[in-house]
Amino acid sequence: MIDRLNDIYELYDRIIRSTALACGPGCAGCCTCNVILTGLEARMITDRLPSPRREILHAAITHGFPAKRYIPKMSTNGFARLCMEDVDLPEEENDPAWGNCPLLENDLCTIYDVRPFGCRAMVSETHCRETGSAQMPPWVLTVNNVFLQAIEHLDQNGHSGNLSDMLLLTLSENAVTGQEHQNHDPKNKGLFVKNESIKYLMIPPEHRARMAPIVRNLSHLINTGPETDHSNHR
Ligand code: SF4
Ligand code: SF4
Repeated sequence: MIDRLNDIYELYDRIIRSTALACGPGCAGCCTCNVILTGLEARMITDRLPSPRREILHAAITHGFPAKRYIPKMSTNGFARLCMEDVDLPEEENDPAWGNCPLLENDLCTIYDVRPFGCRAMVSETHCRETGSAQMPPWVLTVNNVFLQAIEHLDQNGHSGNLSDMLLLTLSENAVTGQEHQNHDPKNKGLFVKNESIKYLMIPPEHRARMAPIVRNLSHLINTGPETDHSNHR
């Protein structure tokens, strides 16, 4: 599964490369404490980092743990389902002023090579510090939504949550510290949302033709049947 997730990241990188972006090293205005990721992405981060870097990761999160952070009430595929079923969406709170991501150091990401999709998808055609917010072409927004949906589908039996919560949970499952984080049990606290399979793809009519080959590629990556799971091999 982790290999397929990596293939999805690589496919996204190839697609987005053709868009002229202002993003670059040291530009970190979008690195807030509000990033969301799936449990599988958290597992990829902890599995691919060597043990000393996992310990640094744990220290950074516990030291910089954000008191206020975006905690999702609905997954992306759940959101798409509710929209199509014309059901009221839950109200959510999300404010970049709540602070930086605890994994940001001197305006650089300390896990850049394994960062989750939520970070990869945060792109802008103009410098956010000059324009006040990210300027994302509508086409890129559609690509981002569909990739978020595919990544959740790949982990449809798992959960999603805030990066700080999900990484603490995953690190405790990996027993990197020997400590338990009982308050990060995905089943009995409101920190995590259940992932869902794709029922409806969020593609507006004007992007359907352009998205067709991308959807075919993604579909192949998320639906190629059972594979050997290398995620526990270090
Ligand atoms: S999205 Fe904005 S803040 Fe983030 S790297 Fe790109 S230009 Fe910088
Ligand atoms: S994980 Fe890295 S890229 Fe993502 S928000 Fe944190 S510092 Fe930024």
